[in-house]
Order: sequence, then C-alpha cells, then structure tokens
Amino acid sequence: MEKGLLIVLSGPSGVGKGTVCAALRKRKPELIYSISATTRKPRQGEADGVNYFFKTKEEFQKMIQNNELLEWAEYVGNYYGTPIEFVKKTIDSGEDIILEIDVQGALKVKEKFPEAVYVFLVPPSIDELKNRIEGRGTETADNIKHRLSMAQEEIELLKHYDYAVVNDKIDNACSKIECIIVAEHCKRFRF
Ligand code: 5GP
Repeated sequence: MEKGLLIVLSGPSGVGKGTVCAALRKRKPELIYSISATTRKPRQGEADGVNYFFKTKEEFQKMIQNNELLEWAEYVGNYYGTPIEFVKKTIDSGEDIILEIDVQGALKVKEKFPEAVYVFLVPPSIDELKNRIEGRGTETADNIKHRLSMAQEEIELLKHYDYAVVNDKIDNACSKIECIIVAEHCKRFRF
C-alpha cells in the first residue's frame, strides 16, 4: 500500500500557520492533523487534546526521555513537540498527515524524514508579520519582540524547504497547499 504523505507546514510565528491549518481542516477534512504537546499555558478558547496536549515541564521531559517525540523545540521559554506514534501510524495506514511546527522543529524532522514535504509559509512582508503578532493581543511586549527577532532569522531558513507559500490570503494559501499535496501524490505514483 502507498504510504501517506508527511506534510510539514512551518514558518515564523505570526505568519498564520494555525489559521491556514484550521481553514485547510475545513476544506480538506480527510487530511489528518498532528496535535503537539506543549508546556505553554492554554490561551482562551484552547482545549487540551484539541489544540495541544498541555503538559507540565516534568511530563514533557518524560516524553523526551521515553522517545515519544519525533522532534521537540524550546520556543520563547516553552517546549513544543510532536508525538511520534500517531504520525507513524497515520502514514503507515496510507493517510496524509500535516504537522504545523516551528522552523527549528521542521529541520529536525527533515533529518529523520527527508522524504516528507516541507512547506514554508511566508508573510507578505515583515511589517505585516509585526501587525499580525501584535494584533493577536495574547503576547507580552517582550514576547512580541522575541518572536519578531526569531522570525527574521527563521526566514533565512526558507532555502531548506521544498515549497514557499505566501500567506497573503488564507484561501490562496490553502489552494496552493492543496495543489502541492496533489502534485506530491502524482510524483510518487507507482503502477
Ligand atoms: P504558539 O505558542 O503560538 O501556539 O506556537 C509557537 C510556535 O510553536 C509556533 O511557531 C508553532 O508552529 C510552534 N509549534 C507548535 N507545535 C509544535 C511542535 O510540535 N514542535 C515544534 N517544533 N514547534 C511547534
């Protein structure tokens, strides 16, 4: 049986990865989404097991020790990681799965799964990225500054990705990602 695709959607914080993923989820319900573990506190409206698996630092460290994570990264003072078992099971069953993770994490996944599809979501401009991070209203001034300086460095890493998708409009970005998925299946097709 043909294996499912592992699609890694990444890009700087504030670029709209979460929003694009949520829109893709509606447009493409057959696509499976990986739920990450994090030590970050839930934002208003977020639920455990839906947006993230919310963990204490101790619980997260245990997951690292037990090799339960495909990758993990520390991002602005919190840990984030991808539970590996669910990803493997999904691909082996022939279904496609998408990971929405930060740039450091994506590059770690690339070491283990070079055959995955790497998509970098690009902001229309740095000014627009700043507006989006500030407009979210959930971060402190220090945190915003940190996220913006990380973003500048992360954009340099675009060269390691297979595809760049500019997130000018959510619908446009989703359409491009859907096209990428179709193209990757066509590329891998064997008779
Ligand atoms: P936020 O706190 O805004 O939800 O997420 C902060 C950053 O962590 C975002 O860039 C998000 O994509 C990333 N992130 C979420 N889950 C994971 C994960 O499992 N691994 C890694 N490396 N980054 C993640």
